[in-house]
Amino acid sequence: YAKTHGRNSSHFYAPAMSEYARERVHLEALLRRSIERNELLLHYQPQVDIRTGKLLGAEALVRWNSPELGIVMPVRFIPVAEDIGFISALGEWVLRTACHQVKEWDESGFVLPTISVNLSMKQLEHGDIISTVFSILEETGLSAERLEMEVTESTVMDNERVLRVLEGLRALGIQLAVDDFGTGYSSLSYLSRLPIQKLKIDRSFISNVTNDSSREAIVRAIIALANALNLQTIAEGIETESEAKFLRQEGCQQAQGYLFSRPLPPDQVLARWLDV
Ligand code: C2E
Ligand code: MG
Ligand code: MG
Ligand code: MG
Repeated sequence: YAKTHGRNSSHFYAPAMSEYARERVHLEALLRRSIERNELLLHYQPQVDIRTGKLLGAEALVRWNSPELGIVMPVRFIPVAEDIGFISALGEWVLRTACHQVKEWDESGFVLPTISVNLSMKQLEHGDIISTVFSILEETGLSAERLEMEVTESTVMDNERVLRVLEGLRALGIQLAVDDFGTGYSSLSYLSRLPIQKLKIDRSFISNVTNDSSREAIVRAIIALANALNLQTIAEGIETESEAKFLRQEGCQQAQGYLFSRPLPPDQVLARWLDV
């Protein structure tokens, strides 16, 4: 508009607004090229047995190293990728890279038991996620039971179509976890129908849990629910020993958080966890 109507018309727009729009278009254009320009990378955050500290797996977390923007965190670009129809390509890149990495570690003598990968709602809406996962498992030779996919609670709830896709994924032999559990609006009857093996207790309930009796009550309730449904529990975002102690006492099985390890680039995972 500004172009066709000359420079003077630009003053009709609030400057902050047009700058935001311009930045957004720029971000979108850069993001679309991030895969071909090899700018995406994965960090891996260990998941441990909360009693013994033994390494059980790791969650793959994507970062974008953009020459123009620097390191961009997923909260900033995952929603954009979802908006512009780029999330399936991005998700496929993450899955392939993570599975390859685990096989590479296998060959170097470092056996990471499981790898968790986040799945976006948008990826579940297009049903070809099942064949994508199948192909990547074939291509990398990773056995299905070593792959876990995380879907957020709000994504999976009360959606029969999503339920079918999850059943298809589960039929491949992979494991499924509900991420950010406690922040969505679970129908308990629907939850019991999901083909899942694990609940990830959201970080917002873990942070400062021992100083907040309502958080304590919620965490207890989630663990009781998981036990009743025969599901494993993992607490995300554990930062202090007192949080870990509380979760241990309450019978939570697994832990992930800065107390144990930050998300690390692959070489640092090896340095930190090989021979532990
Ligand atoms: P999430 O799946 O719930 O991942 C956990 C987030 O919590 C990660 O942030 C992790 O770095 C952070 N975290 C872990 N432990 C602690 C802790 O002790 N304290 C604090 N303060 N934070 C902790 P990150 O890597 O920035 O990722 C944010 C979100 O972006 C993820 O939340 C996930 O929803 C999304 N995401 C990341 N990678 C992918 C991906 O490959 N695909 C999709 N669809 N989403 C992704
Ligand atoms: Mg996750
Ligand atoms: Mg989470
Ligand atoms: Mg979370």
